[in-house]
Amino acid sequence: AARADARELAAADRAHLWHAMTPYNEARPPMIVAEGQGAWIADLEGNRFLDAMSGLWCVNVGYGREELARAAYEQMKTLAYYPLMHSHEPAIRLAERLSEWLEDEYVVFFSNSGSEANETAFKIARQYQQQIGQHARYKVVSRYRAYHGNTMGALAATGQAQRKYKYEPLAPGFVHVRPPDPYRRPEGMDEAEYGRQCARELEETIRWEGAESVAAVIMEPVITGGGMLVPPPDYLRLVREACDRHGVLLIVDEVICGFGRSGRKFGHQNYDVKPDIVTMAKGLTSGYLPLSATAVRRSVYEAFQGTEDYEYLRHVNTFGGSPAACALALANLELLEREQLVERSRLLGERLRAGMEELREHPLVGDIRSFGLLLGIELVADKQARTPLPVEQVTRLIAACKARGLIIGKNGDTVAGYNNVLTFAPPLASTDEDLAFLLATFKSVMHASESEG
Ligand code: PMP
Repeated sequence: AARADARELAAADRAHLWHAMTPYNEARPPMIVAEGQGAWIADLEGNRFLDAMSGLWCVNVGYGREELARAAYEQMKTLAYYPLMHSHEPAIRLAERLSEWLEDEYVVFFSNSGSEANETAFKIARQYQQQIGQHARYKVVSRYRAYHGNTMGALAATGQAQRKYKYEPLAPGFVHVRPPDPYRRPEGMDEAEYGRQCARELEETIRWEGAESVAAVIMEPVITGGGMLVPPPDYLRLVREACDRHGVLLIVDEVICGFGRSGRKFGHQNYDVKPDIVTMAKGLTSGYLPLSATAVRRSVYEAFQGTEDYEYLRHVNTFGGSPAACALALANLELLEREQLVERSRLLGERLRAGMEELREHPLVGDIRSFGLLLGIELVADKQARTPLPVEQVTRLIAACKARGLIIGKNGDTVAGYNNVLTFAPPLASTDEDLAFLLATFKSVMHASESEG
């Protein structure tokens, strides 16, 4: 009976559900996921997979956490919904806790997705500049290869042409600079100098655009979706200094790097930088309910506290900061703290990295890079020339992992023909056995590919 249900469900899926990104593939229909527990998911037929991508970089505390379900349920019974022109305790407490996690005074605006959190940040940055008399500042500088979301502004900030060209015109006023890609830096240049050069290039771009026209810079601490690019250690601090020199706000997109993923509470804390605005989503609720946040430094917020009506932020979000989602997020933060999952992330990240290092000798492995419990392996067809491995071969390796019960991801720089970076972001709550399974499975796939030649 279960099998007949599965067939019926698959037919209904094909008939009615529009899936993200990929066309429907008759030969390889989408996996219908039925349940999750810890780091593992299971499909309708009971096949189990270690989810080394945490869904879409979301499920930091792992699947199946009763306490998160209970927190949302209890809150819904008391007050399921009220908009935030007014207030309620879950939103107040969560905003307070986020300030603690950010280790400074921030004021928080809630939305439902990472894209909306970034849109909100752009609006706040532009209006802030007007409030302080900088009426000509509207441009936002972001980086090639970065992903910031699917809406017209967040997509304009995104530096991946393949996602954009069908949907123009996008929001105007977005300018792109190159991100540091240390593996492919100019030959003979040391990494620290390369980081300085990339930061200088950003500052030069601000100058050429006319600093008086630039409102903000947005970047992730490391580029995740565009090929796991970990910058040289000084880069983000140099960007912060350049922003300060030119009166430009620094927005840090922590949608993936936040909530312990980086081995610290937030990714930017690894670089000792204070952003003016921090955007977060995914790990804020570990993906259990939609919720995102735009945290703004108090000094920026205060520019909006004029007495005139027109000086307030003209922005509302119906579902943003719903009581249930906020209550769940609070339970999620509590769980991250109680189980010390930020520290666990750092430890697991180090072990994952150490376990992968022996693959450096593998003929297809060009580079291994990591940031907390985020790891990328750049695959090449020729180690000397650093020629990217063709995407068909990358996809085959991913399918081989899946066949052995391991889900991993892939990204890169599609426009330049580099779709060759394997990505790993398992839940921070993964067990030692989960990590051992991940490493053993992935290595067996890589070694099998070697003997196939
Ligand atoms: N910023 C980053 C860095 C992201 O990875 C994503 C989503 N992958 C977003 C923003 C957009 O988030 P959402 O899909 O929730 O709108």
